[in-house]
Amino acid sequence: MTAPLLEVTGLRVAYGKIEAVKGIGFTVEEGRIVTLIGTNGAGKTTTLRTLSGLLAPRGGSIRFAGRPLAGVPAHDVVALGLAHSPEGRHVFPRLTIAENLQLGAFLRRDKDGIAQDIKHVYELFPILGERAGQAAGTLSGGEQQMLAMGRALMSRPRLLMLDEPSMGLSPIMMQKIMETIARLRDGGTTILLVEQNAQAALSLADHGHVMETGRIVLSGTGAELLHNEKVRKAYLGED
Ligand code: ATP
Repeated sequence: MTAPLLEVTGLRVAYGKIEAVKGIGFTVEEGRIVTLIGTNGAGKTTTLRTLSGLLAPRGGSIRFAGRPLAGVPAHDVVALGLAHSPEGRHVFPRLTIAENLQLGAFLRRDKDGIAQDIKHVYELFPILGERAGQAAGTLSGGEQQMLAMGRALMSRPRLLMLDEPSMGLSPIMMQKIMETIARLRDGGTTILLVEQNAQAALSLADHGHVMETGRIVLSGTGAELLHNEKVRKAYLGED
């Protein structure tokens, strides 16, 4: 058996005295979609920010592609093949869409490959191609979300971490984003997906973990969790 692409063990993260992540462990196998779902404040975003080197863990270990990741600065994490599409509108508002995408490729020198990948992002999200020369700040929230995802893809990551990619999207666009995530996985990108929309995330994911107040309280395949009574009551709004 090959080792997982990402292996998180006993991870603890705190903001001062507030322990946001209290010792979680999970793995992401190459070529899979793994999702973290859970209520507001459960520690999902904190987990992704720690994996990308933006926060320092208090304890535990992170292994990516066979190497320890704890303490590796964020730009080196990207260079190792782990990209992060953050929650909300984290694009550069005054730069154009094309410039935002170029920035996602800041570590690459292969001009032809970069041009090809920008084309690929425009195929995934045609609206971005139509608006390529426009300032990113003029895009709608959902469109900025797509741009953040496109920018993360520009580093050609082995593992793409997506924080609430469906936020602010219409149901049709959300469906499209979910299809895009499945296509990326089918194209060989491994995905760690954080979502509030548990139904959509679990329908897509190979594996899922439910987080509550800094801990993983339930794990299983996407289908198992979708049918789990507790998940259905707490996260899918059933009585
Ligand atoms: P959401 O779905 O609402 O984004 P989440 O699961 O991503 O929630 P986190 O954003 O990781 O949760 O937050 C986990 C906990 O850490 C929360 O209690 C939050 O208030 C706290 N927290 C997050 N960021 C900070 C910060 N910069 N300083 C202090 N506490 C923080």
